[in-house]
Amino acid sequence: MCKSTAKPKFTNLIEVMMHFSDNEICKEYLASMRWSNGVICPHCQNEDKIYTMKKGYKCAKCRKPFSVTKGTIFENSAIPLQKWFAAIWFITSNKKGVSSLQLSRHIGITQKSAWFMLQRIRFAIRTKSFNKPLDDIVEIDETLVGGKNKNRHASKKLKKSQGGKGKSTVFGLVERNGRLVAMRVRDRKRATVMPIIHQTVSKDVKLMTDEHKAYANLSTIYDHEMVNHGEGQYVVGACHTNTIEGFWSLLKRGIIGIYHNVSEKHLDAYVDEFEFRYNTKNISCIERFDKMLALSDSRISYKRLIN
Ligand SMILES: [Zn+2]
Repeated sequence: MCKSTAKPKFTNLIEVMMHFSDNEICKEYLASMRWSNGVICPHCQNEDKIYTMKKGYKCAKCRKPFSVTKGTIFENSAIPLQKWFAAIWFITSNKKGVSSLQLSRHIGITQKSAWFMLQRIRFAIRTKSFNKPLDDIVEIDETLVGGKNKNRHASKKLKKSQGGKGKSTVFGLVERNGRLVAMRVRDRKRATVMPIIHQTVSKDVKLMTDEHKAYANLSTIYDHEMVNHGEGQYVVGACHTNTIEGFWSLLKRGIIGIYHNVSEKHLDAYVDEFEFRYNTKNISCIERFDKMLALSDSRISYKRLIN
């Protein structure tokens, strides 16, 4: 079997399929992308002693077995990695994008499976990682950032009626005791936030939001609970959005305290930075620094997988 770690360069789908001619080659490739500095146990993060088994790996510390797809968007998928890689190539090489119908015909899967793959791959593109979607209890919220009116030049001052204009909306989703995904969005309307929610969370999550009307229909698809901030309700048992609100205050304090005012152009980079810091909050500063330099081992970089 070819053990080459040199990155192949593809110019068309035939080359992709010829290179990834069987599932084992795909797995090796994924492992080399994911664990360039050695295999890390996805259960306990141990990296000292990992056994290579006939099928996958086993951690010497927590004794749990795992495969290279554990914790990624490919986990528990019945679709072979070859087809995933072909789909990724399709999506990234077609400037106009690809529909689920087109994808289903191209790679020989049902349209429903193709739709699912597209959602997962878009999630990977947006979060710049192949880590799997958020699950368990997920809090969702949005906030306005930047653009203090009193600091504006007189000619650019906003009238009261313009409300949140001049501010940017940041949308966030966080697993309680877990990972966070945040990004700048156009607005907080249903049409904007719903596709992001579908792409970012698993089907079997429990969602927590406030009473903002964009979230009103979530319960038709997900297990959903709402906190009624308008009625002064903040915490009812396990139903609250305190985790995401904690992140907003970190983000805002950071932007005001360190970066003063942030232009919309740079806000994306700041949100990314705060998101990264949040997701690595349980490791020491020097480890985080190393991780950042190494493009972070726990994240399979999207860029690296697709060249
Ligand atoms: Zn382990």
